[in-house]
Amino acid sequence: MRCEVLAVGTELLLGQIVDTNSAWIGEQLAASGIDSYEHRVVGDNQARIVAALRDLLSRADAVVVCGGLGPTQDDLTRDAIAEVMGVPLVRRMELAEYIAAMFRARLRDMPENNLRQADIPDGGEAIPNPLGTAPGLLCNVGEGKVVYAVPGVPYEMQEMICTHVLPDLLRRSGEAATIVSRSLKTWGTSESALAEMVAPRLEALDTTGNPTIAFLARGIEGLVVRITAKAATEQEARALVDIEEKELRAILGDLVFGVDNETMESAVLSRLRSRRWTLGVAESVTGGLIGARIVNVEGASEVFKGTIGAYTTDVKRAVLGVTAEPVVSVEAALEMAVGARRVLDADVGLSVTGVAGPTEQDGVAVGTVCFGIALADGSVDAVSARLPGDRERVRQFATISSLNLLRQRLDALGE
Ligand code: ATP
Ligand code: MG
Repeated sequence: MRCEVLAVGTELLLGQIVDTNSAWIGEQLAASGIDSYEHRVVGDNQARIVAALRDLLSRADAVVVCGGLGPTQDDLTRDAIAEVMGVPLVRRMELAEYIAAMFRARLRDMPENNLRQADIPDGGEAIPNPLGTAPGLLCNVGEGKVVYAVPGVPYEMQEMICTHVLPDLLRRSGEAATIVSRSLKTWGTSESALAEMVAPRLEALDTTGNPTIAFLARGIEGLVVRITAKAATEQEARALVDIEEKELRAILGDLVFGVDNETMESAVLSRLRSRRWTLGVAESVTGGLIGARIVNVEGASEVFKGTIGAYTTDVKRAVLGVTAEPVVSVEAALEMAVGARRVLDADVGLSVTGVAGPTEQDGVAVGTVCFGIALADGSVDAVSARLPGDRERVRQFATISSLNLLRQRLDALGE
């Protein structure tokens, strides 16, 4: 089974937006064992969309088109697919009614143009869009080939790919198989080091080809090791994934901070919540970024007391009781963590102080960041690190590093 990706949008060509959709779709296809050899980008131009579709279909079994399903005159994906099929667009009254109802529910008048989204190439099928107005398309184009169209809006696109496009592709590929995948999220090592650690597993799995392991880089958020298994039933596929997860966890140890949709902040909060501990933060170099990440998580208020933006030396001294000199030092980080616990009346205090640059401060080099942790039992910990990159990168890195340190500290406590 071979499926190509065609991203539609003049903004993509002009570099005004980056084509993250194709990358995401490519990742999903690979994880499902579907070959994809070409990704292409075309502007909002019907003739060029048609030409690209014909060309890709001449070699592939399927094409996913993303974007250009909106209501305006420059959204031409529907028209282009109808042209490739050699059929007219027909308006589906049930879709028109659904779109009108979405507008009524939001108490908004519907521009007449929106009804264009109810037009489907004759013989095609609409893919429901529970998150927006534009339905997707599933169109058979002869010789057993198929074109799918999904919206450009990333979360609408992702929902349709997962619930309709991938299952349909797998059905067509003739495998009566269910696919289950699980992502182990890791933080704190390089891609090459991780690949080296996992190499024995890759080798072991190479003979069976099921499950498979893939690495996905997530920049500052770390590296994902994704396990994907195929089996006749979901239960069997899940069992294969479970076994491989155990193998990988034994190798990766505390590099793994979470699974699937867990983030570093949600991993920290769930560990604190299970101990019924509250958290107070004191941030200098990160200026509130740690608090901002934590409140991303729903229900953070059960655990998170707040963050103190102690940016200047005066505030560190007056609010947190810091006496150490210089204020970027492990001693100062310790005092800040203890101060955050006390001032915010929290079980756990976390602190960060550092030099983001561009110039050194009190003789401390750019990129030097110190982290402190103070626990309810009176124990304290602090470490110093040298983080790479410019000001922005040092601050982002310091934020996730501090959360990761707290996560590892909590795990080390055991039950
Ligand atoms: P809508 O129905 O909302 O109009 P659409 O199918 O017409 O969606 P576009 O108008 O092309 O899609 O894009 C809608 C939004 O989705 C844009 O604001 C853009 O930021 C984003 N988007 C479109 N294509 C991509 C892509 N390939 N990668 C990432 N984001 C994209
Ligand atoms: Mg649009």
